[in-house]
Amino acid sequence: MKRIAVLTSGGDAPGMNAAIRAVLNQGMHHGLEVYGVYHGFQGLVEGDLRLLTVNDVHHQIKLGGTLLHSARYPEFKERKNQERAIEQLKKQKIDGLIVIGGDGSFQGALSLTKLGFPAIGIPGTIDNDIPGTEYTIGFDSAVTVALDAIDKISDTAASHERTFVIEVMGRHAGDIAIWAGVAAGADAIIIPEESFDMEQVAYTVRAGRRSGKDYSLIILAEGAMAVDEFVAEFKEHVPEQSVRGVALSHIQRGGAPTARDRVFATSMGAKAVDLLLEGQAGVYLGINEERVSIFDIVETLEKNEHKVREDLYKLNLELTDRDL
Ligand code: ATP
Repeated sequence: MKRIAVLTSGGDAPGMNAAIRAVLNQGMHHGLEVYGVYHGFQGLVEGDLRLLTVNDVHHQIKLGGTLLHSARYPEFKERKNQERAIEQLKKQKIDGLIVIGGDGSFQGALSLTKLGFPAIGIPGTIDNDIPGTEYTIGFDSAVTVALDAIDKISDTAASHERTFVIEVMGRHAGDIAIWAGVAAGADAIIIPEESFDMEQVAYTVRAGRRSGKDYSLIILAEGAMAVDEFVAEFKEHVPEQSVRGVALSHIQRGGAPTARDRVFATSMGAKAVDLLLEGQAGVYLGINEERVSIFDIVETLEKNEHKVREDLYKLNLELTDRDL
C-alpha cells in the first residue's frame, strides 16, 4: 500500500479536522501518500481529490468543521456510483479509504469494501448515536457549547424567575440532552428514549420553586418533541409561571473541539491508518473504556442499538425528586 485517501461525510462535527491531521501524519510516518477527498462521497464519485500536505492540516487541530467539507449524497446508495468511486480511486492508484462520519457514512464505506475496495470508518457526529462505541468525535464539544449557552440562559432565567425550556440537538438520541442537562443541574431532561408525563414535569418544576429555586430549566432533546409544541403544552400545566422556549440549533455543531474530542480523533485517525496497512476493512473504530476499539460494520450496526446513559438520566430524576 502506497497511497490512501480520507473523506468526511454526513453532518460535520468538531474534531474531524484533528482526525484528518492524524491520518495524514500517521500515513507520512509509514511512508504513504495521503489524498483528501473533498465533499464526501459526492466528491469521491466526481474525482474531487488531491494529495494532502502538512500545510493543509497545519493549525487545523483546533478548528471546528471539516477542512475537506462534507456532503449528503444519497445517490451513493446506487451501485453505479460506488463503482465510479472505485474507478476514481484506482485512477489515482489509491489502495485504501478512511471515512469519517456517522453510521450512514459507514454504510457507504461498507459498500466499497463489499466491491473489493478496503475502507474503514471513524465515528464523527455530535449525536453520539453510533452503536458499539461509547463515544463519537464532536460529542464532547457539542455538550460543552450547549452547556455554555444553558448557563448563560440561566442568568436571565434567574433574574426574571422564569422557566426555560431549552431544545438541544442529537437527532434521535438523547445523549446531548442528558449530559448537558446533568451538567447544568436541570429540573427535567426530556429524551426520545424515555416516555414522560407533562403533569409530572410540571410537579417537579413547581416543587423546585417551592423549595427555594428562583428559576427552572428543562432540557429537551430535539428527537423527543419540538420546543414550541412542548412549551405550549407545558404552559397549560403551570399557568402561574413565565415560560420561554429556545432551540440552540446549529451553534452546537461549531466552535473549537475540546481536548477530549481532539485526543480521541487523533487516536482513531492514526489507528485507522495502521488498520489499513494491516489489511483490515469493513470495520470502524470507536472508544470503549477510554481506549480505541474495533467494530465490525455489519455485525455491530445490524445487531446493536445505540443506548443512552440510563444511569445518568435516572440520577437526574432522583436529584430533582421533591415534594410540593
Ligand atoms: P450524521 O447522522 O451525523 O449526519 P451520517 O453519516 O449517519 O452522519 P447520513 O446522511 O446518514 O449521515 O449519511 C451520509 C452519507 O453517507 C449519505 O449522504 C450517503 O452519501 C452515504 N450513505 C448513507 N447511507 C448509505 C448506504 N446505505 N449505502 C451507501 N452510502 C450511504
